[in-house]
Amino acid sequence: MNQELAGTCLFCQRNADEVPLISVAFRGTDYRICAQHLPLLIHDPSRLEGLLPGAEDLKPADDLD
Ligand SMILES: [Zn+2]
Repeated sequence: MNQELAGTCLFCQRNADEVPLISVAFRGTDYRICAQHLPLLIHDPSRLEGLLPGAEDLKPADDLD
């Protein structure tokens, strides 16, 4: 695990000086994702494949409307 990446958004690699970062715990590891990319994790997690180990197993949340 690259420690420098641990403090940056999974997707865009920006850090908390640039964007608000949200902590995500997944499979025993803590990740960060920025507010801009949090919707990807919710609605289109397949786009995080290769960035978030195990993302390929995630299912997009159903729209509630
Ligand atoms: Zn981001």
